[in-house]
Amino acid sequence: MSAAPAVGTAHTAQQGRDAFRAYLREHNLPVTAQRLVIAEVIIGSAEHLSAEEVTQVLAERGEKAGTATVYRTLDLLVRSGLVVERDFGEGFRRFEAARDVPHHEHLLCTMCGAVQEFRDERLERMTTIIAESHDFARQQHRLVIQGVCAACRRGERSPRPSSSTSQPQPNRDSSR
Ligand SMILES: [Zn+2]
Ligand SMILES: [Zn+2]
Repeated sequence: MSAAPAVGTAHTAQQGRDAFRAYLREHNLPVTAQRLVIAEVIIGSAEHLSAEEVTQVLAERGEKAGTATVYRTLDLLVRSGLVVERDFGEGFRRFEAARDVPHHEHLLCTMCGAVQEFRDERLERMTTIIAESHDFARQQHRLVIQGVCAACRRGERSPRPSSSTSQPQPNRDSSR
């Protein structure tokens, strides 16, 4: 593998779509418009989306895709290596575009559900030191810091519902 850049480079939505099309063809899987649009949505996004949010984005774009199709396609995207699956212990999975960053960690806001990313070399070194002190050959680690984001602490965001039901549109005027 070549040296990793400081900041991860993401595929563009179009590159993601093309790469997924190539993957589907290679594996003799049907190339459908729905599958390609789902690839475009998730790979073109910098967010950590749940399957439900992907379905929502598709609906906003006027694309109809059933939940089963979305789940199946996301699983295929994970298998293709274009998308990474995350489990932050929320009771549902999230998906993010794979990038050429070696490793990063996450901060999860338990109020609004926003996810921030960070990478800290000190933490990377620390996990190696801890593993070595336990005579352990370190392979990988995951860290999710749960807490309340700055916007929520300032009262600027409404909390998400406790279930994974769809959220109200943040930008829509509720006074009409
Ligand atoms: Zn928040
Ligand atoms: Zn991430």
